[in-house]
Amino acid sequence: MRVLISATLRNYFDKNHVIEVSEDNIRSILKFLTDEYPESKRILFDDNGNIRSFIRLYVGEKDHTDPGMWYKQLSENDELIILPAIAGGAPNDSIISDARMKAQSLDDNDIKRFEKHLLLKEISVKGQKRIKAARVVVCGAGALGSPVIQYLAAAGVGTIKVVDDNDVALADVSCQVLHNSRDVNRPKVASAKDKVRNINKNIEFEAENVKLDAENIEDIFDGYDLVVDCTDNYKSRYLINDACALLDIPLVFASVYQYEGRVGIFNHNGGPCLRCLYPEPPEPGLVPTCAEGGTISPLAGIVGSIQANEALKLIIGIGDHLDGKLLTIDSLYLHSRILTVNKNSKCPLCGISKTIHSVEDYDYDELCGLRHGDEEIPVEGLTPDELARRIDNNDPMTLIDVREPHERAIMRFPNAIVIPIGQLARRMKELDPEVDTIFICKSGKRSILAINTLREAGYEGKMYNLKGGIDAMKDIIFSHEGAWL
Ligand SMILES: [Zn+2]
Repeated sequence: MRVLISATLRNYFDKNHVIEVSEDNIRSILKFLTDEYPESKRILFDDNGNIRSFIRLYVGEKDHTDPGMWYKQLSENDELIILPAIAGGAPNDSIISDARMKAQSLDDNDIKRFEKHLLLKEISVKGQKRIKAARVVVCGAGALGSPVIQYLAAAGVGTIKVVDDNDVALADVSCQVLHNSRDVNRPKVASAKDKVRNINKNIEFEAENVKLDAENIEDIFDGYDLVVDCTDNYKSRYLINDACALLDIPLVFASVYQYEGRVGIFNHNGGPCLRCLYPEPPEPGLVPTCAEGGTISPLAGIVGSIQANEALKLIIGIGDHLDGKLLTIDSLYLHSRILTVNKNSKCPLCGISKTIHSVEDYDYDELCGLRHGDEEIPVEGLTPDELARRIDNNDPMTLIDVREPHERAIMRFPNAIVIPIGQLARRMKELDPEVDTIFICKSGKRSILAINTLREAGYEGKMYNLKGGIDAMKDIIFSHEGAWL
């Protein structure tokens, strides 16, 4: 049968909320629990071995606290509920202290604006004050940041800091619903600031138009209650995770790729961190990023909304959180599941013997394999202008497009031979070592991989990488169309 553990007691039961037991009466169940979870003994029993007066035991709806009931045989389908008294009904696991909650007040406007929250007994006035007191950092104002920033602002989070150093591109507008066509080329944080102001001008909005790095991240996070990771690259994710663990700030993590999303909470209540789950990111080029692999537009809305919901639950102190868990959502086949993430005692960040004590002393480029390229022989690059000049001059050269077929369908590169990376070594003889070979991909990263692959296979001709890939050369290709085709 199952034993259900109330939220306030879970720390004494290794954070379990349900424990399966094979015993069939309360006396032997309690013995099993206190043997299995020795910490639980002092919360359940006093020094004389009597059940503590603030603990009630229920089987179904019936009170079984009296030891006279403890020998009664229970059936396999019964559930034993261990229910302690809760002081004043206030959540004791909110990340916002009671003192900060009490320092807030709701004015008439707040009472009208947040009526829907105030109607929920779990949120009510106290919860709304906690939301008002909360200081949250959102890293990234892109696809995930769009719902997160808008829902946190709409829900009344008192201070929202948004960190993003990118400008809005036209391709962003289709899935980053915070920005619209008129925002193209504006900084994302400026666009975010306008939208937040339209939602609720009483919110403190802090725009950080900078790239997070090991030097600035602790200053940016320090003094905030919660960090929401809405970034799209491994280097930022590990940096954010590490800074949160070192500063003891809980982190709501999420990622989206094509049709699949994931959400989890790290560094909360002694729970695991991202490194406990994945000690290292995959090597560059092995797993495409969302920018390379694409993503269906509403997915970030679904996943980001769950992220915002988790953030609010942590602030208010209600419900079951995703700490120590990873929610995965497959939007193509509509599957979702919640996986358990265990704390890793060998984790270099939050394990027993930590080796990471500062983000500034840690090499994130090394971790993410970003240094690989320049430790070997550097790859020579051509800018889009330089390549355009060579094509205009009819310089002898071979252009190799290493993109996948569905990517070429979006935009063809004129006069390029198509060889996907996996076939390069095998088709090396199609290249002429006497002329320069220029490698082309979407963003200029896989083309470097292509060059290193051919070097390893022994190719000795001169090779160049188109810097920034087709993305950087789009406008030039459009303006030459006809002449080059
Ligand atoms: Zn860890």
